[in-house]
Amino acid sequence: MYSSLGNPKHTIEIIQKHKFNFQKKFGQNFLIDTHVLDKIIAAARITKEDCVVEIGPGIGTMTQYLAECGGCVVAVEIDANLLPILEETLKDYPNVRVINNDILKVDMNQLIREYNNGRPVKVVANLPYYITTPIIMGLFESKAPIDNITVMVQKEVAQRMQAGPGSKDYGALSLAVQYYAEAYIVANVPPNCFIPRPNVGSAVIRLTRYLEPPIQVDEPRLMFRLIRASFNQRRKTLQNSLNNSPEVSFSKEAIMAAIESLGMPPSVRGEALTLEQFGLLANYFSRYA
Ligand code: SAM
Repeated sequence: MYSSLGNPKHTIEIIQKHKFNFQKKFGQNFLIDTHVLDKIIAAARITKEDCVVEIGPGIGTMTQYLAECGGCVVAVEIDANLLPILEETLKDYPNVRVINNDILKVDMNQLIREYNNGRPVKVVANLPYYITTPIIMGLFESKAPIDNITVMVQKEVAQRMQAGPGSKDYGALSLAVQYYAEAYIVANVPPNCFIPRPNVGSAVIRLTRYLEPPIQVDEPRLMFRLIRASFNQRRKTLQNSLNNSPEVSFSKEAIMAAIESLGMPPSVRGEALTLEQFGLLANYFSRYA
C-alpha cells in the first residue's frame, strides 16, 4: 500500500467509515493533495537515516509519506478520536509511533532521547494554525536537537517569518525565527488542497536551524524585550517606543546614546533595524547602560 490517503476519495472514505467529526478547536484541515505532500517531503530532505517528529498526524496522510521516506516517525496527536483511525491507516508501518498528547506539553528533549537516542530529528507538520507561533517558538526555545522544521502554516505567518527590514510583514516574529533558523518559503498552498477548506491561504516554510546563532548577543532575552518594545508601536520612532514600553526601563539619555552607537538617526523606527542591529543595541545596553 503506497501512501493511500493523499486524495479526497480515500480521505472521505476513512472519515465516513469511522464517523469522524472534524474539531475546529484543534485546527483540523486535512491535506488531500499528493503534489503538496511530495513538495513537503522533498523540502524537508528526509532520508532513511532520519527520525521525523510529526505534529498532528490527523488521519495519517503525511505520516504514511514520512514513514516511507524516513527511518522512523514519532507522531504527536492531541485528538484521541483519531487514534483508531491512525491504528488502521498506519498498521503497515512498524516504524511509526503515535503519541496521544498536546505538543505544547511534550518535553521535546526527552522525546528525542527516548526515540532517537538524543540525535537530531527533523520536524514536519501541517500545523494547527491556532497555535503555530507557540509551537515553533517552543521548539526553538527548548534547545532540543532539531535539524530543520518544515511546516504548513497560514500564508501570512510564513511571510512574516521570512520577511526582512523594509517589508510590511517584518516584525517581532521575523526576528525571533531568524535568530534561530534560516527561513525559506517552499510553496504557497490554496484552500482547496484541504478538507475542510480553511478560510485562509497556506504556505509551506522550511526553517533550517543554525548550529550557532548568526549574531553574538550577551543577553538574548534583553534583545527580544527590545524587539517587542520596538514593534509594539511600529509607527513610532525607536526612541519613543523604547521610552514608553514596559518591556524595558532605560533612561532617555541611554536610549539616545544606544541609537547613536548604531550610527542611526534619532528619527529611526524599529522596523528599519536588522537582527544584527538589534543585537548591537542589546549589547550596548547590557554593557554600558
Ligand atoms: N497532518 C494531517 C494532515 O496534513 O492531513 C492533519 C493536519 S491538521 C491541520 C492539524 C492536526 O494537529 C490535527 O490532527 C489536530 O488534531 C492536531 N492538533 C491540534 N492541536 C494539537 C496539539 N496541541 N498537539 C498535537 N496535535 C494537535
